[in-house]
Formats: sequence, structure tokens, C-alpha cells
Amino acid sequence: MSRVCCLCVLGAGTAGLGAAYLAAKAGASAQVLERRNIPGGLALTRRTPDGYYHDLGGHRYYSPSRYLAVFLKKLLGEELIMTPRKSRFYLDGKFFDYPVRLSDVARKLPVTHSFKMLTDYLIEKVRGIRDRKEESFEDWVTHRFGRALYEFNFENYTRKVWGMEPSSLSSDWAALRIKGLSLGKIVKEFFVRQSDIATLVDRFLYPRHGIGQIARYLERGVKKRGGGVHLSQEVFKVQHDGKRITRIISRDPKGRRKSIRPEWVASSIDLDLFLKALDPAPPPEVLAAASKLRYRDLVILFIRINASNVTDDSWIYFPDERVPFGRWHEPKNWSPAMVPDGRHSSLVVEFFANEGDRFWNASTDELLDMTLSTARRLELLEGSEIGEAEKLLVPHAYPIWNVGYRRPLELILDYLDRFKNLSVIGRNGRFYYCTIDESLISGFAASAGFLEGKRAGPEPLPIEIPDNALGYLDLSPADLEEVSQERYWSRND
Ligand SMILES: Cc1cc2nc3c(=O)[nH]c(=O)nc-3n(C[C@H](O)[C@H](O)[C@H](O)COP(=O)(O)OP(=O)(O)OC[C@H]3O[C@@H](n4cnc5c(N)ncnc54)[C@H](O)[C@@H]3O)c2cc1C
Repeated sequence: MSRVCCLCVLGAGTAGLGAAYLAAKAGASAQVLERRNIPGGLALTRRTPDGYYHDLGGHRYYSPSRYLAVFLKKLLGEELIMTPRKSRFYLDGKFFDYPVRLSDVARKLPVTHSFKMLTDYLIEKVRGIRDRKEESFEDWVTHRFGRALYEFNFENYTRKVWGMEPSSLSSDWAALRIKGLSLGKIVKEFFVRQSDIATLVDRFLYPRHGIGQIARYLERGVKKRGGGVHLSQEVFKVQHDGKRITRIISRDPKGRRKSIRPEWVASSIDLDLFLKALDPAPPPEVLAAASKLRYRDLVILFIRINASNVTDDSWIYFPDERVPFGRWHEPKNWSPAMVPDGRHSSLVVEFFANEGDRFWNASTDELLDMTLSTARRLELLEGSEIGEAEKLLVPHAYPIWNVGYRRPLELILDYLDRFKNLSVIGRNGRFYYCTIDESLISGFAASAGFLEGKRAGPEPLPIEIPDNALGYLDLSPADLEEVSQERYWSRND
């Protein structure tokens, strides 16, 4: 027998739970189907039986949305803490401040190198941006920062994260992720005294027990209002009549099925998976477009540390080609509650990977050996303080915006627009490189739209909670008086 509900949500990441939370607050019945046995999606926090907490790669909360800051403070209360941020990157045998600061670079690199960065930048400035081909990440960055700074600060890490040449990555990604950063700002920092540590040690908001607490609290809010969050339920069939989604069918690992007849559907599951689940199947050209969407995967190595700290960094980035992993973070430096006691710490090491490659297939011990040999070389870890390690696989961590991704994506979104009771939301749901805040807001916007009969369509994801959602979330303009425009609300990663 199938259950009838107002809103059926596919995926219990921040986008899906945001949609269900708003619907439940508005008194509508919401049912969420999630494939994993834990809510949070990419922004989940895992708790080990021996009392460690860790994210799947550190997730800090940052957002230009002032309403969302108020919402999270109301949702999490005292559990939302302010965390100092200190990050560095390792390149060519040296550690540099991250984000890059010219004063730091000038101290650590030969003068000729800094001079080259400045002259390359000035050359680009004179050439200007107008009328120049800007298809790729490489074009976009070199036109704005000059080739020397691009090679120093962007090229290696981008290649490592995406597993492809920056010349094959779309300029859209650079425009999205690097907007707001200019050489002017970096130069301004050059003249800032060393003691002005605010530029170096930033702050960010973080839940005391990991980013996944946001999902846990949203889940609790949905359930408290009579909604359902069904874990270990994989959606595999989405039936439709050509205009509306009529039934969603999921199954658990034992093959037991759930069938839901929804009034509205918000889908945050990977766009290509959603299309493959459609019954009847979409036209061949839509499926062909779906097969062009590519993702980058991640392998996580979680390491227990039998010492009080490794470093005082929030993150260390490793663009250096000789280092096999891309980044690590020490959860205890984000919140002391992430470890069982003060005598222990932990590390979360991120290997950017493709499913089936050498990192994906490596054993835990092999990944640990790769980590330790680098850490010893850089004098970050002795090795004696290493405890038990665990490997975790994170498929589809990043939607890849390669050159040419836009056409197939537009074709798909255009096709899906015919389903008048469907909104596709969130990161892989929209194949949009968004952060937690945008995912959450896209969920709110979708539900508020449904409740008012104005479905959120394929337009770009909003970066602020839309007006029609505020009332459902008990937010009003008066709340904004509490939120000052401090640095940490803005995106500066
Ligand atoms: C390493 C890393 C670091 C990041 N750091 C930050 C950061 O510092 N700050 C920040 O704001 N953002 C960060 N992000 C981005 C952030 O994780 C995402 O934007 C956000 O979590 C996406 O939420 P979502 O709900 O849109 O998607 P997801 O979290 O991907 O949720 C989709 C859900 O759908 C489920 N699902 C998939 N298929 C099915 C199916 N067939 N049936 C049922 N369920 C299914 C998935 O299991 C998942 O739970 C980072 C991402 C990564 C990978």
C-alpha cells in the first residue's frame, strides 16, 4: 500500500532536510527518503563508538545570508560556536598562509618571484578582460591575477582537486568560487602590519559536535511535527504521467519497499540518478545529456592521534604535487568536543579521487603509509602518536563543471521543468557547486514555493532566504538587527 503525503523529499542532506523542515513547520506532511543510514549527506558528521566526531572533510559555515545566520542560531542555540580559523598551504618545501598574503609570500619567496607576480598582474591589467576568450578556469584566473600568481596559488591545487587540467575546467567555477577576491585586496594586505592577525586568523561558525548537527536538528524538527525521515531507503523509481510526478518508490538494503504518492516532490539526489529513475524513461537525448555529467570523488582517511594536538591549524592544504593527499583538518581545532578527551586528537585527510583509481582502491594501511611518510618529511607528525585509522569513501563529492557542462545541464533542467510538482534542489540535485547555506536555502525556497502554489523553477539558486519563506521559519526583518555585518558572514574562501 502506498502512503499519500504533501511533500516527498529525496535525500536527507541539508537541502532535503531544509525543504522538509519548512513544510513541517507550515503544518504540511513531509516524508524524506534517504539512502544512507545517517542524515546530513555530504555535510554529515560521523560519531565513532570510542567518542570521536568528524565531518567528511571539514565543513565550516560561511554565508552572505544574514537570515540564515539567525535561523541557525535559533535552531542550534548554544551548540553553535565561533571557531578561530588558521589555514596554511604547503608548496615547494614551504608553508604559506591561506588565503595567500603577499607579505607572507614576499618573505618566503625570492624577490624576483614576487616581482614577477606583480609585473604579470600589471600586464594583464593593461590588456584588460573585455573581448578576451574566457572559457576555462585558467583563462579566468590568469586574466585577473596574472600567470605567475595563477601558477603559484591556483594551478596545482585546482589540478589536484579536480583531477584534470585547469584549462579543461569551466570559467563558471572560477567566477563562482573566486569572486570577491582581487589582487587589489591581496596587495592591501601587503601593507597591513604583521600584528594585524584578523586577516590571518579569521573566525567561522561551527556546531559544537560537527557540521552534521545541523542535519540532526532539522531531522528532529521534522519528526517533532509529525514528518518522517526514512533512512536506508534508496529511491529507485520515480513514476510520472508526463506532467506530474505520481509515485516515488524506494527500497531498503533487505529489499523492503516504500511507495509514496506525493503532492509535491523536492529532489536533492544526483541529477543523473534522478533521470535514470524516471518511469517512463526520459527521451534518449536527455539520458545522453545526463551521461555527460561528471563528478569528482573523495577518499577520507580518519586517524586517531594519541597526543593532545598535531598543529593549531584548522586546515592545511597540500597543493604540492609530491604530496598524494589534498588537504587535512584537525577536528579538535574546530571544536574541543570533537574528541573523547583533551589528551587525544584526530586528523581527517582528504584524497581527491575518481572511483576505481589508486586512492579509491588503496587499503587503509596504504593510505596511512602515504600520509605518514609525508607528515614525517614535513615534521608534522612523528608517527609514534598514531592510533587506529579508518578509510571512508565519498562518491560524487563534487559536481565537475568542465568546459562544455552547461549545454547538457540546461537541456536536462529544461526537460524537468515540465513536471509541475517537482523542484530539483541542492548540490548534486541541481548539479550546482553550492555550499551548505545555498543548499539549505534552496530547500526552503522549494517548499515555500509549493505551499504558495509557485514552484521554484530552474532559475539560479537564491543566496538569501526568500521573503515568502521567512514567516514559515519564524523569521522577520527585526531579527536582522541582531546580526551585524561581520567578516565571518561573508564568503572569503
Ligand atoms: C570535502 C567537502 C568539503 C566541503 N566544505 C564545505 C564548507 O566548508 N562549507 C560549506 O558551506 N560547504 C562545504 N561543502 C559543500 C557541502 O557539503 C554541500 O554544499 C552540501 O552538503 C550539499 O547538501 P545537499 O543536501 O545539497 O546535497 P547532499 O549532501 O549530497 O545530499 C543529497 C542526499 O541524497 C542522498 N541520496 C543520493 N541518492 C539517493 C537515492 N537514490 N535515494 C535516496 N537518497 C539518495 C545522499 O545520500 C545525500 O544524503 C563541502 C563539500 C565537500 C565534499
